[in-house]
Amino acid sequence: MKKSNISRRSFIEQLSLGTASIFMAGPLGLYGNEPRPDRILGVALVGLGRYSTRQLGPALKETKWCKLTGVVTGSKEKGEQWAKDYGFPAQHIYSYDTMARMADNKDIDIVYVVTPNGLHAEHAIAAAKAGKHVICEKPMANTVEECDQIIAACKAAKVKLSMGYRLHFDPYHKELMRLAKEKDFGAFTSMTGDRGFVMQNKVWRADKKLAGGGPLMDLGIYVIHGACMAANCVAPVVVTAQFLPKTKPDMFTDVEEGISWTMEFANGGACTAKTSYQHSADKFRAEGPKGWIDFKEHAFTYRGMVVETSRGPINYKPPNQQALQMDDFANCILTNRQSVVSGELGRRDLVIIEAIYKAAATGKRVEVKA
Ligand code: NAD
Repeated sequence: MKKSNISRRSFIEQLSLGTASIFMAGPLGLYGNEPRPDRILGVALVGLGRYSTRQLGPALKETKWCKLTGVVTGSKEKGEQWAKDYGFPAQHIYSYDTMARMADNKDIDIVYVVTPNGLHAEHAIAAAKAGKHVICEKPMANTVEECDQIIAACKAAKVKLSMGYRLHFDPYHKELMRLAKEKDFGAFTSMTGDRGFVMQNKVWRADKKLAGGGPLMDLGIYVIHGACMAANCVAPVVVTAQFLPKTKPDMFTDVEEGISWTMEFANGGACTAKTSYQHSADKFRAEGPKGWIDFKEHAFTYRGMVVETSRGPINYKPPNQQALQMDDFANCILTNRQSVVSGELGRRDLVIIEAIYKAAATGKRVEVKA
């Protein structure tokens, strides 16, 4: 049976045959009390680099409410290989210049922008103009101004917009948000985070035009987002920051190689953080007056997280974060609700990033107007 033609009856049969995984989600609660969609949406990936190839494509073989039906790529051969691997027609292969033609393609409902950061605005706006719902990878764009343009384009086209913030669908991060909301350990007031990897060769991530900045845009954004989760989904009010000294000035000509910063929250809490392309790290810790949660390893990765709390270690079966994220967006479209990982959330993180860059450049405390 073709996935796109799934009928209500076979959908019910599938449920009784044991699509149990959606119920096993436990704290994820996907579709828990919500109307269930009875149609499969088509997704087109824009940009077939590492993230699309290794994570999003395979995840779209696990999704229940959406599947891959097209691609946008600079390479015709690559597109043809994807069409073969994922079983969609060659007419569903577009180039970056022909995205407008997707307007005529009824098999594509969602366009997922997975190109370098500096191209997100151009591609997200092209998708919205073609009447497609949009998922935008992190960071949403190079600047807050570009985020505003994406949000405005989606509003004008009456399409939904969401971010590739997969960790909202990860059980450990959901537990962090639950602890922050229910204050089991009191309000988290002391947070620390560090994320980095060693960049060996200059790629677009070290080019300001395509990346918007250095590791703060690419990796530091995870610590920013995690700290806001720990602060019960609020943004900091003030930031301070310092650039780290450059060890490879030839590679990092117009972006930072590393940066450390502090985010101060309205309740008196603070997060001290670091990110760089000169060291490996992936950790995050939040402490309250009555306990703590510590993401010791792979804090912001897809799987392999090692997480402890002051009550002891916690263990969840790692889900496919990307499959849950894309299924949730499909569900948003089919049931007409707003995504929890909205464009506004993506914009908020860019407001914080711009404040951190300003603080590092001026050496001053900078107010965050998120
Ligand atoms: P990548 O370099 O592997 O892929 C980028 C793709 O964009 C390639 O297919 C490339 O051909 C295409 N492209 C189009 N125009 C380009 C241009 N002018 N210059 C360079 N490439 C161009 O990068 P990636 O790791 O797949 O990252 C893509 C996006 O996904 C980034 O915004 C990144 O932040 C995001 N990402 C998110 C996650 C996550 O966990 N949410 C993980 C990795 C990457």
